[in-house]
Amino acid sequence: MKENNKRNDQNISISFFKEEVKRFVEERNWFEYHTPKNLVQAINCEAGELSQLLLFKDYTKEEIWNNETLCTNISDEIADVFIYLISLINALELDLSQIFINKMEKNRKKYSSKEFNNGIYYKK
Ligand SMILES: [Mg+2]
Repeated sequence: MKENNKRNDQNISISFFKEEVKRFVEERNWFEYHTPKNLVQAINCEAGELSQLLLFKDYTKEEIWNNETLCTNISDEIADVFIYLISLINALELDLSQIFINKMEKNRKKYSSKEFNNGIYYKK
């Protein structure tokens, strides 16, 4: 996969994403359209576009990596979902780190590693 620049997951902060999306929306005067309802619906639309790429297909990771067009299209749709998610976080003035940490803690309690292991997904 091509890298656009030297930024990557190891050296970028969440505030970079929030500022980039905020600036993009600001430069186009789109704040009035980026309401919570519209953004949730936009996330769903983009998730649908991502889903459509895999509909009735059962690609392995290697098949996706070896198909440059498919890999690019999947990457673009993941980015679209993420961009709208960041815009929703901006619109609601949430702190992604805090909501992530809080929800992961809830998930650890709900799905304890003692009860859910060895591929077990449902509570007995
Ligand atoms: Mg899209």
